[in-house]
Amino acid sequence: MYLIPIPAFTDNYLWLLHDGEYALVVDPGEAAPVQQALAQHGLQLTSILVTHHHADHTGGVAALRDATGAQVYGPASESIPAPFTPLKEGATVHTLGLDFQVLDVPGHTAGHIAFYAPDVDGQPLLFCGDTLFSGGCGRLFEGTPAQMLASLDKLAALPGATRVCCTHEATLGNLRLALAAEPDKADLIAQELRINPFLRTRQASLVAAARRLDASADDDIAIFAALRQWKNQF
Ligand code: ZN
Ligand code: FE
Repeated sequence: MYLIPIPAFTDNYLWLLHDGEYALVVDPGEAAPVQQALAQHGLQLTSILVTHHHADHTGGVAALRDATGAQVYGPASESIPAPFTPLKEGATVHTLGLDFQVLDVPGHTAGHIAFYAPDVDGQPLLFCGDTLFSGGCGRLFEGTPAQMLASLDKLAALPGATRVCCTHEATLGNLRLALAAEPDKADLIAQELRINPFLRTRQASLVAAARRLDASADDDIAIFAALRQWKNQF
């Protein structure tokens, strides 16, 4: 299988996974760059996976579905361009000969889902939408800190070798270049556990940092909330 991040807007990645003949795309906020990639590689689009309702993740869904007849899969409790197959945790999407397990990861939005395939050419693969970024996590637009913390705990518990396909480049410009130079290099859960403070908010150093921001932060959720709030004005 081939995994290609298609850059869109200022810092989005529209992930394309294909086997040389058939392809799926995740969160196509724009149709044109996806159609370009399909044409360039001679691919037929069979599936469109959507993690949440934001326009930068759904703007190209209808055009791509109309142009290709691809099946659309998305979160059951969010409004995305219909018709689509509504999904929540426990569901499995079979496509390209792969099985993607659906995970509920509320926090960035209330109904946000992620797609986890335990075995893609021998390695687990995760499409996490705007839940987890390299070195960070999504902003809490609709969900609570408790929900986001539980969602990140769920992702942190996936195998360390899991390749993580994030939908925004939140890291520095030099990593953006690194990814452009080596486009198959998705991030790994094991690496995120080392570099990402939002996956380790129970660690003493981070608890101490959170208490400097909010002296009353006295449990896991309040500590996570204080650290994530800090990022909003950092
Ligand atoms: Zn979003
Ligand atoms: Fe987004």
